[in-house]
Amino acid sequence: MVAPGAEAEERELEAALRPRTLDDFVGQHRVREQLSLVLEAARLRGKTADHVLLSGPPGLGKTTLSMIIAAEMNAPLRISSGPAIQHAGDLAAILSSLTEGEVLFLDEIHRMSRPAEEMLYMAMEDFRVDIVVGKGAGATSIPLEIPPFTLVGATTRAGLLPGPLRDRFGFTGHLEFYSSAELELVLRRSALLLDLALNSAAFAEIATRSRGTPRIANRLLRRVRDWALVKGLDQVDARAASAALDMYEVDARGLDRLDRGVLQALCTKFGGGPVGLSTLAIAVGEEVETVETVAEPYLVREGLLGRTPRGRIAMPAAWEHLGLQPPPEAPG
Ligand code: ATP
Repeated sequence: MVAPGAEAEERELEAALRPRTLDDFVGQHRVREQLSLVLEAARLRGKTADHVLLSGPPGLGKTTLSMIIAAEMNAPLRISSGPAIQHAGDLAAILSSLTEGEVLFLDEIHRMSRPAEEMLYMAMEDFRVDIVVGKGAGATSIPLEIPPFTLVGATTRAGLLPGPLRDRFGFTGHLEFYSSAELELVLRRSALLLDLALNSAAFAEIATRSRGTPRIANRLLRRVRDWALVKGLDQVDARAASAALDMYEVDARGLDRLDRGVLQALCTKFGGGPVGLSTLAIAVGEEVETVETVAEPYLVREGLLGRTPRGRIAMPAAWEHLGLQPPPEAPG
């Protein structure tokens, strides 16, 4: 049972571990370099930066980057999300209260309602919105100027964004999963901030189990920290780190319960596939979107799952990882 307040502490810790400058932001070299250029050019021109779209799986640093963009532009940051904007009026209220140069971060931008999306097109392009007052034949629209702002949109599914919205972003950055070496850097920085002593092998152990994701790396580090506290360890080695992580159902390859559930269902219920994504999602009792945006990208990257026009298939490594024997007709 999580004690009341523990969740708030987790959130506080997560915030404390966020890098605050582009230089502190580990990995993602291409995106970082390109973004740095966009920001520098805007600063030299004395203008607000172009709108930025960040895509990629959860926990790779989209929110963190939006905070960094605001900090580097010396601008305030407003945070909202697609699901929170169900009516055009919700968006109008946000846009009309922005100050000049403000950075507006919209997480899960692909989940915004259609009318709000259309309002956003105009706001992004002309810094103006039309507010519709009244209904039916008597409805009138009142144009409203809004100060220049920078929109930072984040999405786990760039492909779902309508073309006109995608085209209005001056810069699009796709965040990739992090390598183990990069995750080690994230972990070393976090351990320093948490005043936690780990040896190199322990960092490596946590990094390989972090699913290429800094948020997970930091979360696992906090679990290892709990373990060290309870066991009274001054220094954590690889054995202690791996014993701590075994308790949290993170396997040696970094797969969590959902990842393993997907592979298990694919292999044991569907003979290794091919099987459609929605059938697979039902089999693991999850939303299609969760399977597609959270589990699948990592499983594909790890060479465990394949996407074919006929559906998802288990790759040979998946059978091996689960310790299962593939049927003779299974792919591979
Ligand atoms: P979501 O879409 O799920 O909100 P996100 O992509 O916005 O995820 P963040 O909230 O920015 O992810 O990052 C999660 C955590 O990972 C942060 O607390 C931050 O400390 C850490 N983090 C992310 N990227 C980096 C990085 N490049 N270097 C160091 N730490 C990072």
